[in-house]
Amino acid sequence: MSYVQTEAFASATAPLASRPVSAQNNYSFIQGEFEITVVSDGFITVPIDIVAPEGSPEQRAEILRRTGNPDAGLVESKTNIPVIRRKNDLIIVDIGSGNKYQPSDGRLSANLITCGIDAGAITKVVFTHAHPDHVWGTLTEDGRLRFPNATYYVGAAEWDYWMDPDYRNNMPSELHEFAEGAQRAIDTAGHTPGHLSLELAGGEGLIITADAATNEIASFQHPKARFGYDTIPDLAIKNRARLIERAAFDRTKLLGYHWTCPGVGVAERDGHDIAMSRCD
Ligand SMILES: [Zn+2]
Repeated sequence: MSYVQTEAFASATAPLASRPVSAQNNYSFIQGEFEITVVSDGFITVPIDIVAPEGSPEQRAEILRRTGNPDAGLVESKTNIPVIRRKNDLIIVDIGSGNKYQPSDGRLSANLITCGIDAGAITKVVFTHAHPDHVWGTLTEDGRLRFPNATYYVGAAEWDYWMDPDYRNNMPSELHEFAEGAQRAIDTAGHTPGHLSLELAGGEGLIITADAATNEIASFQHPKARFGYDTIPDLAIKNRARLIERAAFDRTKLLGYHWTCPGVGVAERDGHDIAMSRCD
């Protein structure tokens, strides 16, 4: 897996009017030599036709009842952002959408302050993929980097897909130290062409799935069903099913970007079926 280093992903989308922010859940735990705090960016709403386009009426009703608004037919898809401390590094994985996407997200900066995390102390930003709810928060409302002292990492395939190919650089030397920091990327392409999940070594392991598994019910009970925002559905299904199977077999702890806060759980097999059990 190779990375390119970028100045930033900048969104050309004009900011919406400023919105009030509210405190959200945060949740901390130790994982081997990593100290992890899950900080919320709020939530986005996603139509049930996107979340479970192939779901039965019963399954769709259950998803809406447990993770959404049944009257509106909308799933409330949380945005759980891991902040990982290891020695002198403070690493954030994806950074929400700032004030540019939906009115119910863009809460990260306020919630970091609530958690006592200084934006200037973040040393590394790792992007799993370049969808708006993961990267549009790169710049603040006045056009400055939200994490001004960080080095930014994005998968080369993801970068190539979204940006000018001529901008590509070789792997930065910082990546070696970064890899030694026990992070490795799991290729979960399909949701986007270069989508990555991340695995932290140490302890019993933790896989930051990002959007390889977007819904705690649909993605586990029916990993081979289509998800409406997957760019390459067949590849997404293959990688999602492999990831869920492996997680259920290894019982590796999982952290999902869009699951009910704080999005930490374990895949459990019951006969043929797999379900996600929350850890909180
Ligand atoms: Zn997402």
